[in-house]
Order: sequence, then structure tokens, then C-alpha cells
Amino acid sequence: MELKSIPYGNSRIDFSLKRNDRKTLGIKVYPDGSTVVTAPIETPYEKVTEKVKSKAQWIDKQRDFFMFFEPRTKEKIYESGESHLYLGKNYRLKITESNNNSVKLKGGYILIEIKDKHNKKLIEKELKKWYKSKAIIHFQNIFDNRLGLAKDLSDKETSLKYEWLNNRWGSCFKNGTISLNLELIKSPKECVDYVIVHEMCHLVHHNHSNKFYKLLDKKLPKWRDSKDKLERLLA
Ligand SMILES: [Zn+2]
Repeated sequence: MELKSIPYGNSRIDFSLKRNDRKTLGIKVYPDGSTVVTAPIETPYEKVTEKVKSKAQWIDKQRDFFMFFEPRTKEKIYESGESHLYLGKNYRLKITESNNNSVKLKGGYILIEIKDKHNKKLIEKELKKWYKSKAIIHFQNIFDNRLGLAKDLSDKETSLKYEWLNNRWGSCFKNGTISLNLELIKSPKECVDYVIVHEMCHLVHHNHSNKFYKLLDKKLPKWRDSKDKLERLLA
């Protein structure tokens, strides 16, 4: 296998080229982000690069797959006794009726006081509000602890925002803003840290090239463990 690299936009696509006696050219992206192109022996190299370039967007998307997830299919029912995650731990809901709506953490429970305990939409809304209030505190703390890294990596002023996103953990905008999925408040802090470091590395490399992964490996050698944990818990 030969290591190759071709320019793509303002970045590059790195791939390994394998030659064999197959009839068609194939491209495979592995979970670690490495890309292997298998081409027929007689295909000229220019043809190979042409094909890789035409597939560049797809390759980049595949490499980003681990930052994506399929939403869980199991619907929550928002009844007492049901388990909900917070910072990587399971807590049971204890729902009681009250004149005021409130959510509190106590022991192994998430205590929810609600005007109508049969109104699942309302419970869901209050719980999300509570998750968000916790996320703002914890995400900002973890982010602030990594500001030194962001400064090392880029001159850009970085800032943080939070959203409920359907299918990704985070993103990094060209202006330096890093956006985190509020859903991450259900995962351990090390997973939030991993997503933040991943996004900060995008301040340097806006793609998932080998260079990006080298940087991530250097800045957070154990990132794969956190990624696995995150996927086991939430994806
Ligand atoms: Zn990424």
C-alpha cells in the first residue's frame, strides 16, 4: 500500500492506495478515519485521483460519522421509576404533583414537581430546561479548562454555544464558535471534554484528514475511549 495525498479545497485528502486485479475502483473509510482506495492495476494514477476528488465530500462525511449518531429509538415515557441519564449516571424519575413546576437532583433521583403528572410533554419540557441549566454550567467549565489549548491552536477568539441537535455532538464554525449538543449533558464529563477537544482541533484542520487525527491524538491520546463511552451510552 502506498500513502497518497491530494489537494481538496484548502485542505488535503490522505489515503492509502492498494492495487489489485479487481475491475472497478473502490473507496473505503475506516472508523479510525483512514481511507483506503483499491484500484485496478492498469488504472492510471490521474484517474484514481479524479475519482477520489469526485468522492471527496462523501469521504469527509464518512470520516465525520463518529461525530454523528442515530437518535435512540426507545421513546421515554416520563413516569416515576423511569431511568434518565445525567453526567453519565442513571437517575430515576420521581414525579409528584405541585402548584409549581420544578426539577431537582436528590440521591439517585431526579425529583420532578409538576402541575399535571400525566402531561408528558410538560414533564419533558421541564426536564429539558433543567438539563440545559446544568449543561450551561458544566460545558462552560470544561470549555474554560481547555481555553489554553484553543489559544495554542489558533489566534481566533473561541466561544461556546449550546443547542439541542438531532444528529451530531458538536461543530466548529469558521469564526471560532464551537457548538455543543445539549444532549451531551447526559454523558460523563470526559465525553464532553472529548467533543470540545475534537472541535478545537478543527480550529486548525477543518476536515478529518490524517493531520487532524494526528493533532487530536497528540492533544487527547485517550480520545477513542471517550468516544466509545459516548457511543455506548447515547448513540
Ligand atoms: Zn469533526
